[in-house]
Amino acid sequence: MLHAGRIDGNRRWVQAAPVHGRTHTMRKLAGGLAAAVMSFGLALVPTTPAQAWGDEGHEVIGFVAEAFLTPAVRQKVQAMLAADTDSLTPHNIAAAATWADKYRDSNSNGARQATRQWHFVDIELSAPDLDSACFGHPVLPPGTLASNGPAQDCVVDKINEFAAELANPAIDPEERVMALKFVLHLVGDLHQPLHASDDHDQGGNKKRASAPGFKSGTLHHYWDTEFVEMLGPDPKQDAAALIARISPRDAHAWSQGDPSAWALDSFRIAKDDAYGQLPPPNARGSFPLPDAYVAMARRDVAMQLSKAGVRLAAVLNKALGGQQHP
Ligand SMILES: [Zn+2]
Repeated sequence: MLHAGRIDGNRRWVQAAPVHGRTHTMRKLAGGLAAAVMSFGLALVPTTPAQAWGDEGHEVIGFVAEAFLTPAVRQKVQAMLAADTDSLTPHNIAAAATWADKYRDSNSNGARQATRQWHFVDIELSAPDLDSACFGHPVLPPGTLASNGPAQDCVVDKINEFAAELANPAIDPEERVMALKFVLHLVGDLHQPLHASDDHDQGGNKKRASAPGFKSGTLHHYWDTEFVEMLGPDPKQDAAALIARISPRDAHAWSQGDPSAWALDSFRIAKDDAYGQLPPPNARGSFPLPDAYVAMARRDVAMQLSKAGVRLAAVLNKALGGQQHP
């Protein structure tokens, strides 16, 4: 996501972990030039901007959701994706859940950048107000497709708009498949606590953090990616482990409410944990995360990915479950 592109410039430099890289990024760097560079013990690695939940988080959510779709809706979703001619992502649910980030970034100076703010809702810690964080909930002019809506809109509104298009068979098929892919992604983003909160720091993008065994990065990046990668290397297996712990009672309870309520749920986790449990910054202004913080974040991330998957399935089951024709 999310706050992607809100950080200064399109490129930032981070110091690679000096030992035992824990992340996929580090594993991918093994070998070749990267290994040579790392042999100096200090590698500067260019990274792309923060993406609210990295691809792995969205893929996990996609796999969890798939398990909670009704068979009929799963079939409809798969058929819609299979017929899609877009080449930004493969045409399965987990991969398509990463599509909206690729779409936003696929013409960085063009119209698709106007979708940037649709990936988050900056509810301020100091004065929480969902309505102002959603720019007053702009109403789409009659006849305007959600994908052509105003740039200043929040993830809550966009989920509702795209879900309504998905539920309406009269909408142009090309728009409906786009609506499906936005829903697959944005319900996930809504559950990244730092996509639903702000401390006048661009959702944690302006705070630096570090933890033993991790490469240093922004606080936002830690929640997007580093804590997710602690679940394991394979999104499908990660999802299976999460699904095994979701009881029918959980699934029922989490499916209640709407994107506004889910945003406030994410905000609460940001307020209590992501921001609330931060240690004091060090002399350089960076936050050295203790083991207890990392363990808490890992639990929170597992919970949020689980809730996101169940709620994504609920949105899709509702939007696509009652129709005679796809
Ligand atoms: Zn996103």
